[in-house]
Amino acid sequence: MSSETPRTAAPGGVERLRRRIAEWDVWSLPRRLRLPVLLVEATALLLVVALIPDAAPTASDLWLVLALCGAALAHTEIAVRVERARRRVHEDLHVDLTSVWTFAAAVLLPPAVAAGAAALVHSYVWWRAWRPRVPLYRQLFSTATVVLASLAAAGVIEAVGDRAPMIGGPPDLLAVALALLVYTTVNSCLVAGAIAMSVPQAGLGRLFGHWDDNALEIATLSLGGLTAVALSINPWLAAYVLPPILVLHRAVLVRQLEEAANTDAKTGLLNAAAWHAMAERELRRGRRADGPRGVLVLDLDHFKDVNDAHGHVVGDRVLAAVADELRSEVREGDLAGRFGGEEFVVLVGGPDRNAGAELEAVAERIRRRVAALQVVVPTPDGPLTVSGLTVSVGGAVASAVAGGDLQSLLQVADAALYAAKRAGRNRVRMGVAMPMQSSPRDDGQGVLPIGAPEQPRRVEPPAAAR
Ligand code: GH3
Ligand code: MG
Ligand code: MG
Repeated sequence: MSSETPRTAAPGGVERLRRRIAEWDVWSLPRRLRLPVLLVEATALLLVVALIPDAAPTASDLWLVLALCGAALAHTEIAVRVERARRRVHEDLHVDLTSVWTFAAAVLLPPAVAAGAAALVHSYVWWRAWRPRVPLYRQLFSTATVVLASLAAAGVIEAVGDRAPMIGGPPDLLAVALALLVYTTVNSCLVAGAIAMSVPQAGLGRLFGHWDDNALEIATLSLGGLTAVALSINPWLAAYVLPPILVLHRAVLVRQLEEAANTDAKTGLLNAAAWHAMAERELRRGRRADGPRGVLVLDLDHFKDVNDAHGHVVGDRVLAAVADELRSEVREGDLAGRFGGEEFVVLVGGPDRNAGAELEAVAERIRRRVAALQVVVPTPDGPLTVSGLTVSVGGAVASAVAGGDLQSLLQVADAALYAAKRAGRNRVRMGVAMPMQSSPRDDGQGVLPIGAPEQPRRVEPPAAAR
């Protein structure tokens, strides 16, 4: 039986190209992000093209390119499994260890040549290490940031010092230190800018990485500086840089895996098991010196309604935004964790003096922050703003709870949380353990309203079920 399906004319070359371009992932980006991403990519390309006439690489420059690209290739191939695992564990804000080679290139080579070598190395790593692949525009953006950082660092070397020979005297070291700062600043600011535009609520840690990430970046670039000095003596010395960078690479993966095992993937806070272990340790320490003031347990009010109204994906973004607020409100040494679902927990540190009032003040600040929170979530129909969120908080002061162990503290704080819920939600309640009570939750844990004197009082029995 012959099919009579009408045939449409095959699209011409221009039409095919138009369709191909229309399929690019970059168009799926929100408009406010698309333009800056394309702008950064175009700027990097145009600058390299504009600087090519000035590049005029010498034969020794070409040897250096060969040595650096060869070493980067060997590094990538030997560490490919480690790197794939790193990228699986930590997709965001990835410190790129190939900057040891790209920074050395920026120190040793004319800007356009250094930028070309950086683009080559970066693209090779992308091709080998991302499984599954990230969209091409993301890779191009990331390459563009490295190209711009390389151009800026190479520009500093040209302006401040003398590129070759890089013999390691004070002016060279000063030039390398300046170039290192410029390289990391340009790179970090561009990446932070892109994150800030895609996640408006992102905190500083998410934008610029934590101390550990920045220390790793500086360590890698410092090794890159040493590599530059070594290679200006003899390009074969690149081989001596491989063992330390490979060991560093492996050590970084181990740290990332440890971190991932302790982290709640949705919010980036400590997960319940890690929080417990760390809080136990802090409490033990605290018995000897100034220690934790107490524990706060937080539960978002009517969170099911957020899911029901907007779906779980939006709900997840709200949880992440609340976690960001929590992180911003507590101090560096406090432990903030996600207990599960829409429940969070914080071990608040500080001296025992005035502990009740201080703990309550922290809880109240968190409560107000959540109440003022506006979470903007991108959706296929445009940005959606979720607001009107509230949280109930229960607190327990370490020194006021008989025994002061974590379990008792949590029970007291949990009972106070239930009291806050029963009192109408969106409020803070501080619990005070009543001596001789076996189970605070069942027996009516003493709970104080905000500002009340610290006299235990019985509250109504908890609801049968949450
Ligand atoms: P209450 O004020 O009494 O705490 O009301 P609630 O709706 O917050 O509490 P309930 O325990 O009835 O519901 C908790 C909801 O939290 C149910 C569940 O859909 C949601 N939830 C738990 N974990 C997650 C998560 O990981 N992501 C999302 N999006 N929702 C979650
Ligand atoms: Mg809730
Ligand atoms: Mg709950």
